[in-house]
Amino acid sequence: MFKKKKKFKVTLFFLILVLIYGLYALYVAFAHNPGFELLSKNTISYSGLKARIISDNTKISMIKVSLGTKEKSIYPIYQENNLDSDFEEKIISIPFTEEDKVVKFIKKNNLKSLYLYYQIEYENKFFNSNLNKKIKISIDFQPPSIKSVRTDSYVYLGGIGYVIYKTSKDTFLSYVDTGLNTNFYPITIEGDSVDSNLVFFTCGNSPCKNGKIKIVAEDLSGNSVSILRRMKTLKNKNWKTSNIVIDLSFLLNKYNEIFDSNLTTVSIDNFLELNMILREKNNIEISSNTSAISRNLITSGNFYQMRNSKVFSDFSEKRDYYFKDEDKPLMTTYHWGYDLSSIKNAKIYSSSEGLVSYVNNDGLGIYGKTIIINHGLGFYSLYSHLSEILVSVGDKVKTDTIIGRTGESGLAFGDHLHFGTYLQGVPFNSSEVWDKKYFFQKVLNIYNDFIKGPSNRRIKKSGI
Ligand SMILES: [Zn+2]
Repeated sequence: MFKKKKKFKVTLFFLILVLIYGLYALYVAFAHNPGFELLSKNTISYSGLKARIISDNTKISMIKVSLGTKEKSIYPIYQENNLDSDFEEKIISIPFTEEDKVVKFIKKNNLKSLYLYYQIEYENKFFNSNLNKKIKISIDFQPPSIKSVRTDSYVYLGGIGYVIYKTSKDTFLSYVDTGLNTNFYPITIEGDSVDSNLVFFTCGNSPCKNGKIKIVAEDLSGNSVSILRRMKTLKNKNWKTSNIVIDLSFLLNKYNEIFDSNLTTVSIDNFLELNMILREKNNIEISSNTSAISRNLITSGNFYQMRNSKVFSDFSEKRDYYFKDEDKPLMTTYHWGYDLSSIKNAKIYSSSEGLVSYVNNDGLGIYGKTIIINHGLGFYSLYSHLSEILVSVGDKVKTDTIIGRTGESGLAFGDHLHFGTYLQGVPFNSSEVWDKKYFFQKVLNIYNDFIKGPSNRRIKKSGI
């Protein structure tokens, strides 16, 4: 009797153990399953099909994707076997071309949707398992269209130009690529059948890439279309190149002032830290603070050079820095603005009407105390090396508003104003805004005609 009881207890203990183990295995089986997530809004297009596969603590050994009808899978489009590496998630990308059988099948049958089948073989701690599912997806192989393009006939080196084009209503995003690492986005007016777009752009301080600009339109499915337009770049000036021999003793005070340090000597590394690394960082900060497009004009279009000032350094001047008597320059910079000299601590007026959009009283690195003013349509002006700032962010300024005083804060040797103009984050030659006739011809008149256009009523608020 006693023995039987003991045996029963042992059996019960093992039964409970098996039960717990079984429950745990069930938990693992239900809680840990791989996931499959389509990244392209459940649509396939020429931009391909992208999906994210999440392992969720399982080991995935095989992934298979195919397309077909509701009843059956027909066209295999992706397969990966013997996946033995551990991964948390994996992005798979499947491109399509017009030559693919499935694309021909879709076009022949004029399909609007089909089914995507996926099969994932995986192993969790206890089981080998197989996930087999299908998702309904829509088909969009129709890219948006770009038409009625009107482009400017030329730009000057470092100057600005415009292009006007219409896009079909399925366009999600359009822009102009001039060969720089940043694109130029439009001011868009929505029409009933097409949208009208006006883009102001610059090709930077070199000619537009291959003598052309590229207009690109994309839809939500990722289909895109692009067209090229010729864009002549004229050279109206030879920019100076200066050879500068690095004088470290000269740099010491500026280094300590800008980095708030107490060094007694500076090295060539300190020079590079200041003139290369910090300069780059400061230029990125300026770009990001001059890239937004205000869709309304904030300026009358009249820009003035600082009163009673003389230009002593031009836009895009090249500066080669040499260390000691080495043959090759250690580094090169381009001067993204104009240096204007006047009397010491001279009053600075806003160059045109605008909205103060950025103020840095602590000093923006090599630029020192800096103000940025937004003039609308993606145009900005910048004032650097100031000794004093007299405006705040959000202030409306006019050409008789004193915004600050000249100085030598930042990497400036001698009191002067560094003045720069930017379009959607890219510096351009300010002489084009100071020349009233030219600025009206290239920008103001074009914008005014554009918003007066016959089918143009609603200015699109969304977008970049
Ligand atoms: Zn300067």
